Amino acid sequence: MKTPLPDYLVHVIDACDTDNSGRLADYIPELANANPNRLALALSTVDGEVYSVGDDEIEFTIQSMSKPFTYAYALQKLGIDAVLDKVGVEPSGEAFNQISLGNDRRPKNPMINSGAITTHSLISIKEGLQGAEILREFMSELAGRELRFDDAVYQSEVKTAYRNLSIGYMLRTVGILESDPVDIVNDYIRQCSILVTVKDLVRMGSVLANGGVDPKTGKRLLNRAVVRQVLSVMMSCGMYDAAGDWLTTVGIPAKSGVAGGILGVLPGQVSIAAFSPKLDEHGNSVRGIEILERLSRDMGLHLMEGTSSAQTIVQSHYLTGKNASLSVYVLRGVLKFTEAEMLLRTLQCEPVNKNTIVIDLSQISLIHDVGKRMFLEGIDRLIDDGHTLLLVDPEQRLDHARTHKDRILHVYQNLEDLIEKHKEL
Ligand code: GLU
Repeated sequence: MKTPLPDYLVHVIDACDTDNSGRLADYIPELANANPNRLALALSTVDGEVYSVGDDEIEFTIQSMSKPFTYAYALQKLGIDAVLDKVGVEPSGEAFNQISLGNDRRPKNPMINSGAITTHSLISIKEGLQGAEILREFMSELAGRELRFDDAVYQSEVKTAYRNLSIGYMLRTVGILESDPVDIVNDYIRQCSILVTVKDLVRMGSVLANGGVDPKTGKRLLNRAVVRQVLSVMMSCGMYDAAGDWLTTVGIPAKSGVAGGILGVLPGQVSIAAFSPKLDEHGNSVRGIEILERLSRDMGLHLMEGTSSAQTIVQSHYLTGKNASLSVYVLRGVLKFTEAEMLLRTLQCEPVNKNTIVIDLSQISLIHDVGKRMFLEGIDRLIDDGHTLLLVDPEQRLDHARTHKDRILHVYQNLEDLIEKHKEL
């Protein structure tokens, strides 16, 4: 059997291929030379499987889709508060290149140019190096291959960067930028000239979808709190002055760029990238929007459609051992608040003082902090009731198996060994 997903993606781009509306960005002269017919789509699952169709090998400049990654890098290096001191998180409702500040004299958010130039400046200052190069290396790590700059696009934008320079001078005037605005703006423009394909973008996005861990290498590249911050800002501010429209129709945190790319990231599920150079009046790719709208509708990806909780946590429960006094719970899935509450509600039916309770966590894919806290609290209460607790946790994800009352739990590598050892009970 061949998975039908690639055929479905081809079907989606074919359906959008006929829309020829929109215009190429021309305020960066080099972008006006792009082939307007290009069309590509890629999707990465949260475990890193990439599907792609159309012009999926064609590189184009990342432009504003670099902004969430610059923001992520700054948050990771400087901490959320230090970045918030300089850049807000409020949707601006204005065009991406508006020369404006919030009432508190900070740029309103990091997804518009004033905020993005500011986050870029934080990176240069921190490392004492050119920010664009640091970011190229960072994005290359996320993409899993060496990315490069497009010098022609860079030169072309630098020559005509009057608006971004105005923003830079304004930021310098109010003290948000702390060094030469021309250097910072030029280096920000270089950041925007990094070349990517839709396949690169979905790989980069899959790290965000996967809570900061690269699903291909298993390496943690960003903290969970950083990812949450970045995706929140993408959700509220990523689509410029069309953000509200986007939230209601597509409902996927996203960022677009004026070269025609759109990257959407649905936490815990997928990342999706589309590329088609013709833009609407907000500066977003016309066909890219159509593609994401369609995928969101067809695949039920709207963030507000509900959580991905499987609504089940106990895969099986049975009694075993000589006098049926081993009560075994095999858990499966993700242990967050909803699932932990369900589990504790089930465990409260265990009769006081009776069984030895065995809980097998080996098939749990993620234990969230709140899930862990609730679980350990439940364990203490079961022990208080007179139960003996035995765990199967080969990956040792329970803080050295110490409960809140500092009890050390018996942990086994696998369920079969545990049952074998205790079958006489
Ligand atoms: N380099 C572009 C600029 O700063 C990026 C804008 C965009 O992609 O929206 O004007």
